[in-house]
Order: sequence, then C-alpha cells, then structure tokens
Amino acid sequence: MVPVIALVGRPNVGKSTLFNRLTKSRDAIVADVAGLTRDRQYGEASWQGQRYILVDTGGISGDEQGLDMIMAGQSLQAIEEADAVLFLVDSRAGRTAADELIAQHLRKRNKHTYLIANKIDGADQDSIQGEFSKLGLGSPIGIAAAHGRNINPMLEMVFGENGIGSLAQEPLAEGEEGKAPRIVEAIGTKIAVIGRPNVGKSTLVNRMLGEDRVVVFDQAGTTRDTIYIPYERFEKPYTLIDTAGVRKRGRVSEAVEKFSVIKTLQAIEDSNVVIFVIDAREGVVEQDLHLLGFVLDAGRALVIAVNKWDGMDEREKDYVKIELQRRLIFAQFADLHFISALHGSGVGLLYKSVDKAFASAMTKVPTNRMTQILEDAVANHQPPVVNSRRIKLRYAHLGGSNPPIIIIHGNQVENVPQSYTKYLENTFRKVLGMAGTPIRVEYKGGE
Ligand code: GDP
Ligand code: GDP
Repeated sequence: MVPVIALVGRPNVGKSTLFNRLTKSRDAIVADVAGLTRDRQYGEASWQGQRYILVDTGGISGDEQGLDMIMAGQSLQAIEEADAVLFLVDSRAGRTAADELIAQHLRKRNKHTYLIANKIDGADQDSIQGEFSKLGLGSPIGIAAAHGRNINPMLEMVFGENGIGSLAQEPLAEGEEGKAPRIVEAIGTKIAVIGRPNVGKSTLVNRMLGEDRVVVFDQAGTTRDTIYIPYERFEKPYTLIDTAGVRKRGRVSEAVEKFSVIKTLQAIEDSNVVIFVIDAREGVVEQDLHLLGFVLDAGRALVIAVNKWDGMDEREKDYVKIELQRRLIFAQFADLHFISALHGSGVGLLYKSVDKAFASAMTKVPTNRMTQILEDAVANHQPPVVNSRRIKLRYAHLGGSNPPIIIIHGNQVENVPQSYTKYLENTFRKVLGMAGTPIRVEYKGGE
C-alpha cells in the first residue's frame, strides 16, 4: 500500500508551503484539466519513484482546550492513519506551548515521527538544535520549505533504510486490537468502489457480490481497515477493494465505518479500475471533483456510476444527464452508467465497462505498430513549425500500462503544443480502441 505522510504542526510553521513544494507535480496535472480543482489538504507526491500520499493536517492550533479537543479533530484521524508524521516547528519563532502540546501527543503514538525545524534561513543552527531537542522527539532536521533547502535529506530520512521503508515489512497491528492484518493475494482485476459518504458504495458492493454468478472466496483479509475481497464472476477473477467497510459491519460491533479520505486514496492507488459512485440526486459536488482528481492523477481506469437513478422523473433525469456531461468533461474517456444499487438495475452492465477499461489499461502494443500509428497521424496532420524548423516526431513506443504511457521520440519535442498532444492522444486512443482509461503522452527529445 502507498505510504501516508502527515504534516503536523501549529498554524504558520510552513506546512502548506512544504505541502505545495512536495506535491507540485500533482499541481501540473490538475491545473491542466479544466473543471478540476485541487485539494489543499490531500496530495500525491513521489520521491525517487516511491509514490506517497501527503496530508496537511492544518488544524492543530493548540488553542483547543487540552488534548481532548485536539483528539476530536480531523487532524488526529490523519495522524492515526499515517505511516509517518512530519512534525513542523518554526525555527524563527522558537519553541511554543502549542509545540509542546503536539509533541506530548506524538510521543505517545507509536509512529515514525520526524521533527522538522522549518525556516532555518537566517536562524541560528546551534540554538535550533538546543531549543527543539527539548521536545523529546530527537534532534530536529532543519529545512527551509520556502527555498527548497534540505528537502531531499529530509525525504532520505523518511524513506531511507530506517524510515518507513523498513516498516513496510513489519506486520502492523495498530487499530486491530493486536491482531496482525492478513494480507490477501489479490486476484484478477482490482476494483475500487469510490465515492463520498452516502452515495451508495456499500449498497453497490453488496450488489456486486450478491449476484448469482459471483463466487466469493472465503479469505477476505485486511490491510489495516481496508478489506480485499477476491471473487469470480463467470469464471473471471476480480478483487474488490472495500473502503466502505461493508464486510466489517456486523463483525465489528455493527459500527458503521467512518469515511476516510486516506483509505480512499490508497484504494485508488492500489486498484486497476475505479468505479466512481455519484449520487444522482445531489449531482457533482466539490468533494467528487477532488476525489476524481486523484483518480486521474493516479492514472487509473475509470467507470462512473450515477447511483439512485430510481424514483427520478424524466425531467430530473434529463437535467442530471446534461449537468453531468458538462461537469465531467475531463473524464470523457470514462463510461457513464445510470444505476440503482438499491434495486440492482444497471449493476451487471458495470462489469462490461470494467472489463473493457481494464483491457485497455493493460494493452500491449509492439513498437513498430505504435510507430506506424504515429507516422499516419503525422501524415494526416503535421506538427507545427517552430523556430523556422518543423517539429519532427520519429517513433513511438508504449512505456507503461495502467495507465498506458505513450512515449514519442523526436526533435524539438519541448515545443509540441498541447493541442497537438491531445490530437495524438485521441488518434492512438481511436486506432487502438482504448476506452475507459486515461492515456499519458510523454516526449523524448534529441534523437
Ligand atoms: P501553515 O499555516 O503551517 O500551513 O504555514 P504556511 O505554509 O502558510 O507558512 C506560513 C508563513 O511562513 C508564510 O508566510 C510562508 O511564506 C512562511 N514560510 C514558509 N516556509 C518558510 C521558510 O522556509 N522560510 C521562511 N523565512 N518563511 C517561510
Ligand atoms: P455509502 O456511505 O457510500 O457506503 O452509502 P450506502 O450504501 O450506505 O448508502 C447510503 C444510503 O443511500 C442508504 O440509505 C441506502 O439505502 C441509500 N441508497 C443506496 N443506493 C441507493 C439507490 O440506488 N437508490 C436509492 N433510492 N437509495 C440508495
């Protein structure tokens, strides 16, 4: 599972500055896509190829009444769900009562905690060490988030040999009352059913597993709270990643699982295909767009299920359809299904789209075929002339799957306009019959 790192600290220490610096790659993709907005609290980033989820907990001010108030906050859930905590303090301001309070809480948790002294620019190194070591969390790592200073050494600590890399092997017993989670071998297509609270995820998961032809293997296991359910349908293997905690209800004191953005993001990362559930009666709201942004960033194949389609009259249905087409323009590659998880209508058809999307996402195409498609595309519509030389695109190959990455080699590739890239993407998509998956186009120059 993708590790989660939480940024913790009182306001103004530089959390969002660090967040922005670490997630700036994500920015680029989301900024590209009209209609999608960025989530300021959750981000994806990668370091030396290791993807991770970053959470800016934002809210701990220390003005809360004691630890109980803090415990109640959103931030605490994020700390609980994180694999590592970056606890930020402000080198210029020195140690404060709020820092002490947060440190006290963190010392009690069994977490990889890194004490980060931000804003070391212009601050005195020796006094920083002395000042913040008193927090009882070791000696601080000094950084300047605003200037990008020491960020790599910091990440080296976090992901290095003694960091969360070493933790991946240990069985995590947290939260499960000492019971080590069993990790189940996922089979076939990994499907994550994703959506805001109450859109009908659990109802849909039950429907998908309750069909006559489904054989659920009795070995559902957990990675922390997320449950993996391997099964077969018409002898085709699938694994449902159940973030809604359907299978847990009843087993654990009837408790309804709390919606967790972090679990949702991890499930997206870990899946092949996302079934994104929208509530037809509420339409597309901001949180839907944030979650969809993550699906796109992760490059996952996508099927959109507009749920609760029962009991709507024709006028409402028309209105919702038009509205969805307008707002989901960035996800045009995805099939849209209008379903009722409650009554089961339309649910079987989802599998058709899931299978098609998975097959497209995993397509293998030989280089000569890719190059042929590129040559035909260029012959039909030449790339522009830049600096009085025409951009030359010579050959193409497939550099990855789920999402498919089309790598195009040529000259002056840094000058290819976005509209032309879009044209190439559409051409490859059409010729190769790819549906339901985003496609990435990347260029390699100088050849
Ligand atoms: P947050 O409330 O913890 O999210 O803090 P912000 O990221 O909003 O930063 C608070 C202020 O500190 C802003 O004015 C930043 O520009 C400033 N800041 C952040 N990092 C640095 C740094 O490395 N050096 C200096 N001098 N200022 C910084
Ligand atoms: P989750 O939080 O996304 O897992 O949502 P649930 O599956 O728990 O559903 C939330 C509520 O919506 C419950 O009261 C369900 O009975 C209801 N619901 C789910 N699917 C449908 C549907 O297709 N039609 C209608 N009318 N209600 C639904």
